[in-house]
Amino acid sequence: GNVLITGTNGFVGSWALKVFLQSGFTVRAPVRSESKASYLKKVFGAYGDRLEFVIIPDITKEGAFDTATVGVDAVVHIASPVGLDVDHPDELIIPAVNGTLGVLRSAAKVHSVQRVVYISSCAAVVNRTATEPRVYDENDWNQHDVDVCQREGRAAAQVSMYCASKTLAERSAWEFWKENKDKGVIGWDLVSLCPPWVFGPVVHKDEGGPDDLNDSNKFVYDAVVKGQYFPVDLAFIDVRDLAQAILLAVTKPPAGGERIIVAAGPFRWEDLIITAHEVSGGKTYPPIESYNPDAPYMARTNVAKAKELLGLGYRTQEEMIKDLLKEYEERGWL
Ligand code: NDP
Repeated sequence: GNVLITGTNGFVGSWALKVFLQSGFTVRAPVRSESKASYLKKVFGAYGDRLEFVIIPDITKEGAFDTATVGVDAVVHIASPVGLDVDHPDELIIPAVNGTLGVLRSAAKVHSVQRVVYISSCAAVVNRTATEPRVYDENDWNQHDVDVCQREGRAAAQVSMYCASKTLAERSAWEFWKENKDKGVIGWDLVSLCPPWVFGPVVHKDEGGPDDLNDSNKFVYDAVVKGQYFPVDLAFIDVRDLAQAILLAVTKPPAGGERIIVAAGPFRWEDLIITAHEVSGGKTYPPIESYNPDAPYMARTNVAKAKELLGLGYRTQEEMIKDLLKEYEERGWL
């Protein structure tokens, strides 16, 4: 099959690229500039003309994806701003929402497309400010951060801005799909995947230090090696399992029209430090003060749907941390 995948020069997208190429797909990969593709061209060079990069400098421009979608059977939209260094919610919301709608509108113009997979997030599901522990499922939407951003504008916390951008982008994808499906305009099914924090080995770059990692991997490094915690934890998935989930979301017919949470389980940063200590045979990792491992996790996820529709299994925290420590070691970061 032929698939269009956005965001392949990022952490999640590069793993998706790898899995689709390994599974025999031909991949068209939009990036913002020529230089963004140069390392990937080297890494995936062996796939020859099964991998084609196209340059789309601005994904919010009308018709930006019109040429890129021609001839593809499936579309996977991963590109979205994840920065926590912004001054106003619109800096994240506009590219997230308009980028998503732009991809969907272009996909609606081609008859070859059978399936569109949007990579949402548990940020669009979970209310991270809830004070009681809860199990979340696909019926839950994070409206909280949308309201915060509407009310507070540039004064909103940056994590609120990011979460709102994911809720609004996913919601606009479903609205677009439902409306056009009902009108008989489109022949494809939408799937949205909602992963929690994604961690794991990196394939999209080979240089830079820990500070140059994508945000989620930077936070796990900061916790495990430096003992500094980002204020939000909740749940996690290994990036390799997410990449597999994306492949299954494209190829499994029953996934069509479904919102699906994919998650290995809940965690706190302290758990990752304890795991690092254990899997490294007692090598010292940052000390943990006053931690109660038996305290209930505030956000658990029900992943029954992912199991039923995708048959997805998950790497454990131990496997993930072991591979991360190996990578830190190889890069000289320990
Ligand atoms: P990265 O920062 O590694 O990758 C982000 C990707 O999106 C890059 O390819 C980037 O391209 C592209 N992108 C960002 N902003 C824009 C823009 N304005 N226009 C065009 N492209 C843009 O992050 P991740 O790989 O971690 O995230 C990828 C996706 O996964 C996002 O949708 C994110 O919301 C989602 N996700 C990630 C989680 C995580 O913990 N990592 C958790 C849940 C969901 P460029 O280099 O040109 O900026």
